[in-house]
Amino acid sequence: LNTPTVSDQDRGGPDPRGSAAARLVARDRAVVWHPYAAAGAAAGGPLFAVASASGVRLRLTDGRELIDGMSSWWAAIHGYRHPVLDAAAHAQLDTMAHVMFGGLTHEPAVRLAETLVAITPAPLAKVFLCDSGSVSVEVAIKMALQYWLGRGRPRRTRLLTVRRGYHGDTSGAMAVCDPDGGMHHLFTGLLSRHLFAPAPPCGFDEPCTDAHVAPFAALLAAHADETAAVILEPVLQGTGAMRGYHPGFLTRVRELCDEHGVLLIADEIATGFGRTGELFGCDHAGISPDIMCVGKALTGGYLTMAATLCTDEVADGVCASEAGAFMHGPTFMANPLAAAIASANLELLLGSPWRETVRRIEAELAAGLAPAAELPGVAEVRTLGAVGVIETREPVDMAVIQPRLVELGVWVRPFGRLVYTMPPYVTGTADIATLTAAMVEAVATASR
Ligand code: PLP
Repeated sequence: LNTPTVSDQDRGGPDPRGSAAARLVARDRAVVWHPYAAAGAAAGGPLFAVASASGVRLRLTDGRELIDGMSSWWAAIHGYRHPVLDAAAHAQLDTMAHVMFGGLTHEPAVRLAETLVAITPAPLAKVFLCDSGSVSVEVAIKMALQYWLGRGRPRRTRLLTVRRGYHGDTSGAMAVCDPDGGMHHLFTGLLSRHLFAPAPPCGFDEPCTDAHVAPFAALLAAHADETAAVILEPVLQGTGAMRGYHPGFLTRVRELCDEHGVLLIADEIATGFGRTGELFGCDHAGISPDIMCVGKALTGGYLTMAATLCTDEVADGVCASEAGAFMHGPTFMANPLAAAIASANLELLLGSPWRETVRRIEAELAAGLAPAAELPGVAEVRTLGAVGVIETREPVDMAVIQPRLVELGVWVRPFGRLVYTMPPYVTGTADIATLTAAMVEAVATASR
């Protein structure tokens, strides 16, 4: 059985199979908009109907099972339908699903905030629970801006970051994404104008030298008086590059921020909760940011929730501004259901040998993806923690590679020249072998 794709639909004529999957795809194409896609039937590319997910497997409506290589974009670290997380969701539903957070509080929010403060680098001390990664970046930027208003330095309004970064799709977050190569260059002229140093040139295993940091240092020195904060993805640039860099770069950035009195925002939305082999990317460098964003794996992929943490110094500065309060408050902030699942998720993670698991997965990804380096269409193969990447010389043809990956029994979602995986931590050795072999095979097919 082949899963119907939109290309089947687009060929016109009656669907020969008339299957439930084909009907679902057709209904989807009539009304649904997918990420980074044209609307409806114009979207093109294959679309697969998923019926259920458990463990590390997605089940398509035609009965085929795919090994999940994406953790639903970094989130489902324990796989799908984990009994502990299911139980936490059911237990929380017995009391309340949601209440507003203005003027009210509840155990799930307080417990989660306490845990986050305990596991993130000191002196992060205050937690703003919000509803998506992009929003947590907006919150971080607003905290930085309001901090400088509170400290009587209203000219500090710019952010400084590095190229190849990705921080989300909302306006404030887009303004600190790579302005050229990134996903948002269309909007560049419409967004706040920030400062972009070259991407960290040192690989994760390549010691960071003064020369590597010099352009960043020069840019910060030239604009320190107008810079509110530096924002970075610690040690691994995710969606914009899928490329690690040496922790020493981060150490120097922290020192330079201190030298110039500029805040440091660590965007740990992708790197957080063990993905790179330490609990947070910052832990590789032993540094503490002034503001930290977490999301994605926070609820183990069950519900949408993110958090922005800051130091007491930042919180005090924010509240010293004319408003006397932080001017942000999303309707669904601190959602009790998400918070209860997040606490269960973190307990599960911290009670597991996650460090050894990530190390094992890293070794297996490296071994399994290595043969791709021999393919003529491949520029580089790299791994960092539980992340494996095949970078191709040309953008991959999604209409070719995506169905091939599915035929080979895996779910991997390439983007541009990046064919990458960040599997759930519960993925076993045999499944990693299947996943990596399929990625190599699919890249070989697509670059033929
Ligand atoms: N920051 C980083 C580093 C990310 O990788 C992402 C998402 O990929 C975001 C922010 C945005 O998170 P969300 O998609 O939950 O809005």
